Amino acid sequence: MKITRIDCHVLLIPNYDEQACSSAQDNLVVEIHTDEGLTGIGETDTNPWIARECIRARGTHCMGLSLERMLLGADPLDPEALWRRLYSGSKMNGRRGAVICAMGALDMALWDLRGKALNQPVYKLLGGTDKRPIVPYASLLPTGHTVDKQCESLVEKCRLARAMGFRAAKLEVCINGPYSHEGLQADDQSVIDIVAACRAAVGPNYTLLVDVAYAWPSARHALAILERLAPHNVFFVETPIDIDDLDGYALLHEHSPIRIAAGEWQNTHWEFLDLADRGRLDVLQPDVGRVGGFSAARKVCRIAEERNRLIVPHCWKSAIGIAASAHLAAATTVCPFIEFLPAELSESPLRSELVLDELQVIDGVIQLPEKPGLGIELNRDTLERFSDERSSAAVAMGVCPPHFGAARNRESAPAVHADARHPE
Ligand SMILES: [Mg+2]
Repeated sequence: MKITRIDCHVLLIPNYDEQACSSAQDNLVVEIHTDEGLTGIGETDTNPWIARECIRARGTHCMGLSLERMLLGADPLDPEALWRRLYSGSKMNGRRGAVICAMGALDMALWDLRGKALNQPVYKLLGGTDKRPIVPYASLLPTGHTVDKQCESLVEKCRLARAMGFRAAKLEVCINGPYSHEGLQADDQSVIDIVAACRAAVGPNYTLLVDVAYAWPSARHALAILERLAPHNVFFVETPIDIDDLDGYALLHEHSPIRIAAGEWQNTHWEFLDLADRGRLDVLQPDVGRVGGFSAARKVCRIAEERNRLIVPHCWKSAIGIAASAHLAAATTVCPFIEFLPAELSESPLRSELVLDELQVIDGVIQLPEKPGLGIELNRDTLERFSDERSSAAVAMGVCPPHFGAARNRESAPAVHADARHPE
């Protein structure tokens, strides 16, 4: 079997909001085609325009080669060997960052292909079992432009998540620091108040997780607030401080009364080695696409298993990434939850409409597919409808409403994407 073509679909919803900290508003979906008619699919969570160019860009140096050209003509059935080839062949420009995110989409698609070729679901290829329950937690991003509105929204979404059968929910309390949702900059007391309101809404026996998204300037500052959050019984607090402050994370590990989680941005298992050994993180959060695909994510699972840490995969894109997280979770003994954006509680149609046969959640547990590969199929209508090339061309031709393709709240933002003016 040989790889014959790689399609890179940049997807974008109309009326996206640049002030929101939601990466469900765009996507890069890749399809790897073969001469035997099988196609693998993958996605990654980074700037999709950059990631597409990481795949397509040409190269002239033996360690700065084109990812696409290294794959064309190759046998797709050994993804780990191809990962090493892509990593080495792009090392001068890659190693970390967007190139690894792009490789993650490709690697996800290669494992999907391998599963389809061998008629096995990916989790079985990873050595996993369907005997472990895969428990999704509902990841809840509030609406609203004030602290009060976001608190009300989170309380309401907590109640809904619980009513929908989710066994746990994560509060995105992103009201401070550079990752703040809708530009809020609130005080630390507001974080405690929001968590307290949500705890009161769901009662004492429901699992709540909290993401504060790099809110606090130092570990010592964070510790003071973590002490005050502890009585609200939080399973973990995610990314309390800057991700490069690994010594700060080690200090938190030593003194925090609550587990600390991080890793959503990390690329390759080597970055997780740093998080685990220097940062001493309790909970590692690889995003299958960003970390470099299953080939890298499975190594992160080994790192966690050997050190008695937990894995809780990050996922904020679509049902493709959720399927990838579920397959990964089935292949490790240390994964209590996977991140899950409930389609009903997400504003993005890419979350709800990109896949035809999303893995089902029954009694709060994800049902692993018996179908080969990832076990999901793309909705070609959605792929076409949210294609950025289509929306850009429409705006350029003046056939779309003026807000289409331009950021909400930014009337002066440029409405035409460069892609439309430079067709390939
Ligand atoms: Mg996060």
